[in-house]
Amino acid sequence: MPARRVYLETFGCQMNELDSELVAGQLTSLGYRFTSNADDADVVLYNTCSVREQAEQKVWSRLGELRKSKSDKPEMVVGVLGCMAERDGTDLMDRMPVVDVMCGPAELDKLPSLIDNAVRTRLSLVTDDPKAAIKSVKAAALQGSSSRRSGTLAAAGDSLEYLDLSRSVSPIDPIGSLRKSAYVRITRGCNKFCTYCVVPFTRGAEIHRPPAHIIEEVQRLADQGIAEITLLGQTVNHYRFEHGSAKITNGITQPQKGQAFKGGHRRDPLAGTNTTTFADLLYQLHEKVPSVQRLRFVTSYPRDFGDDVLEVIRDCPRLCRYLHVPAQTGSDRMLKKMNRGYTAGEYSEFIDRARHYLHQPEIGRPLMISGDIIVGFPTETDEDFALTVELLERSRYKSCFIFKYSPRPGTVAYDKIPDDIPNSVKRERNNALLAIQNRISDEVSKEQIGCEFDIMIEGPSQHAIKASGHRATKAPSGVQLTIGGKSTGEAEDFSITALLDRFEGDTVQFSGRTDGDQIVMFDAPTATASTLPGRIRRARITDGRGLSLFGELIDS
Ligand code: SF4
Repeated sequence: MPARRVYLETFGCQMNELDSELVAGQLTSLGYRFTSNADDADVVLYNTCSVREQAEQKVWSRLGELRKSKSDKPEMVVGVLGCMAERDGTDLMDRMPVVDVMCGPAELDKLPSLIDNAVRTRLSLVTDDPKAAIKSVKAAALQGSSSRRSGTLAAAGDSLEYLDLSRSVSPIDPIGSLRKSAYVRITRGCNKFCTYCVVPFTRGAEIHRPPAHIIEEVQRLADQGIAEITLLGQTVNHYRFEHGSAKITNGITQPQKGQAFKGGHRRDPLAGTNTTTFADLLYQLHEKVPSVQRLRFVTSYPRDFGDDVLEVIRDCPRLCRYLHVPAQTGSDRMLKKMNRGYTAGEYSEFIDRARHYLHQPEIGRPLMISGDIIVGFPTETDEDFALTVELLERSRYKSCFIFKYSPRPGTVAYDKIPDDIPNSVKRERNNALLAIQNRISDEVSKEQIGCEFDIMIEGPSQHAIKASGHRATKAPSGVQLTIGGKSTGEAEDFSITALLDRFEGDTVQFSGRTDGDQIVMFDAPTATASTLPGRIRRARITDGRGLSLFGELIDS
């Protein structure tokens, strides 16, 4: 039988991108192949996000579009992975009968058997006994959506740990030579229960991976040519592993539940005991895997960010000067209603402290910070909003994600706090903040003109890709690629050489990133550009506009 072709599309956050990559690796090793065109696929998978309404709407519309393909090709298997599968359960299947497989984030290790089961059943559906087949498809699908409801977090953690540990990049990785960055998960889930957020319900309680597993995974990725690692966690700076209470199953140390701690600005109170703190983990990764040229982490929780972490970032040259620290609002009243656990004053204290330790433009290492803001949370007054404007001005983010509040089913706010701010007010506040942030981003970019930075080169810029008339798409890991024309159904060539073959002219605009995560555009000679991705080169900044810097390479 020819290899089954899978179309996998990812919505939402970096955690989902990593999950998709692990799923892609797993399926590739089992003989599946990937296509960038859903119409060519035997298996269509959507890895979904429930954090924003917009991302969910896109999934509903994709599923709606599949109705026609599925009636033409009834053997096609459609799977919904991630947060929507976990949260909506059978409701989703009732509303969208095209769905054959559902698999929550804590059950992804079971996905190959769920797909296999569904593929077999679909095939028998078009041949033998349709009624029995439909029953079997639904039973198989529902197995994949039970993680939180079954309450077996420890068990889910164990099996997911195996999934993380089994990740493969090369030689079967479909990403090819563009691939120089990778995500590595250090914690899963969240214990914070912000009232607007569905993550603690869909991804479960916070658990922390053993440091030895993380270091081994980073080493393996580095050995395969990965130059930049981003450590992932919903509240990444809460990482801590207490070795004394570690459980060992079949000779493998298991992840452990996150313990609540309020570090404030202090060092982790368990530092120096038989514990790997977040600061320890960063230091160990920096020292033990020197071939990783850049190490980042997202997303940071503004409280409990100890001075020990800032000192390690300051003292380890390959740790990036970039922090993503959502504030959400500048009003203490709103922060309380959101259950964020800090005040606007505490947030600003952290930003000042981080800049005190890490902002060093004189050595070409300015600290760049990005944030998230929600406008129009229930009962937000003009006074509350004015405090958010103040916080935005004070924080001087390089960039900020600004969202209009929309109640998410399954959250505390959805059930208990009426959504009383009219959409027109939300829109007005959203636009006002966007205008302020655009100005600040532009100012921050202009401040970099004349500076020299080490940049890690990624590949042709999105602007170059669009201008060349090619279609931008995503490889299974979420790495941005360009594939011209319609897929032939053959294995696609995701390599940088194949990509550059599609450009005309002597130069092509490339992009790279500073260690503060600012994007730098520069012209690269087309003939030699294929050697650039993943390299760190020195660039002088000649212009800065909006979120982008423009410059030239100045080393040979
Ligand atoms: S910290 Fe709050 S917003 Fe972030 S994942 Fe946890 S509950 Fe959601």
